[in-house]
Amino acid sequence: MKILVVNAGSSSLKYQLIDMDDRSVMAKGQCERITVDGHFKHAAGDKQTEFDIALPDHKVAIELVLKYLTDAEYGVIGDMSEIAAVGHRIVNGGEVFPESCIMDEEKIRKLEALTEFAPLHNPPAVTGIRACIEVMGENVPQICVFDTSFHQTMPKEASVYAIPYKYYTDYGIRRFGAHGTSHKYVAGECARLMGKDPKDLKIVTCHLGNGSSITAVDGGKCIDTSMGFTPLAGLLMGTRCGDIDPAILPFIMQKDNIPVEEIGDFLNKKCGVLGLSGVSSDFRDLEAAAKEGNERAALALNMFNYQVKKFIGAYMAAMGGLDAIVFTAGIGENNAVMRKQICEELSFLGIEVDDAKNAERGKAQEITKPTSRVHVFVIPTNEELAIALDTEYLVRNA
Ligand code: AMP
Repeated sequence: MKILVVNAGSSSLKYQLIDMDDRSVMAKGQCERITVDGHFKHAAGDKQTEFDIALPDHKVAIELVLKYLTDAEYGVIGDMSEIAAVGHRIVNGGEVFPESCIMDEEKIRKLEALTEFAPLHNPPAVTGIRACIEVMGENVPQICVFDTSFHQTMPKEASVYAIPYKYYTDYGIRRFGAHGTSHKYVAGECARLMGKDPKDLKIVTCHLGNGSSITAVDGGKCIDTSMGFTPLAGLLMGTRCGDIDPAILPFIMQKDNIPVEEIGDFLNKKCGVLGLSGVSSDFRDLEAAAKEGNERAALALNMFNYQVKKFIGAYMAAMGGLDAIVFTAGIGENNAVMRKQICEELSFLGIEVDDAKNAERGKAQEITKPTSRVHVFVIPTNEELAIALDTEYLVRNA
């Protein structure tokens, strides 16, 4: 079965065509600057192409993707009908969508109604779904996989905020979490690598990238996660502040005359390790600066490690135990120094890192010794494959 995975943003549309028989990526690419002017990149095997082209809307973008997937030179399928289904990545499905599902007009309307929970991401995703239906026809199933679904199993004490309850009941304000597709995928892979049933495991999954979140997965289910109502909460990140005392907001808004319309941008784009260090949002730049003696870059790195460690400890307490920790995403997969430091500081848990394995790259594997009481893994995340797997499951069981 061949599945097209689509991740539509306001001006971009990323895609992968995945052959589920061997889980290989047949082709991938992206449309950029949709509605602005237009740029297209496409790769299939060793063939690649990239050019400017007018992309006035998402429908034109999807048409272009399908044209190249079936192209004589750059294509990988003979005809569009070989695509069994399309899996769409959706940032926020609210409480309405606790699981991935096949979309119909009623569900698309329900998704549209959730716009205020993800104003930058949900509307272009809906545009992407409608464009696929228009171009591919009503008979090709369109499946939505939500970044929030995996976190819907959180109990109320982890998901509701200590503000008047009406804000939950009337406005739906609660912890939704994010990166759910990634957390679910790496937790599942961790259980598979351990040769155990997910039901028997307590796992903390650390998705550490430009955006970072940590999740407590108890018996295969999320019971808590560090991101909140929006992906601003939890750990400090590249440019996001993470958890701060909310009273800081009115304080600095008054001091620096920041209007309410600008405070979101400030918290999302000017804070985190960038704001703290004044150097960069990229952890590689911070490491280089810290090596040259930049104290604020070192502080940002140490603070990040400290917060990761604190969340792992908190979630271990929340689950009443810990069998495994998983590191994934840009920093989690690549930064061996950071992994080693965090694990060493948690050595009181009986974590014993295997340095040779920790130094290896790009492989899903355990990086602790067999005698380690808590097992630590590096598992490259693969959100596109996770979306394709849910899509395949729903199509096969429809
Ligand atoms: P992501 O958002 O998952 O793409 O992750 C981006 C973050 O991963 C950036 O802060 C990068 O500095 C970090 N990263 C990517 N590659 C490496 C690497 N080889 N070593 C250390 N950090 C890396």
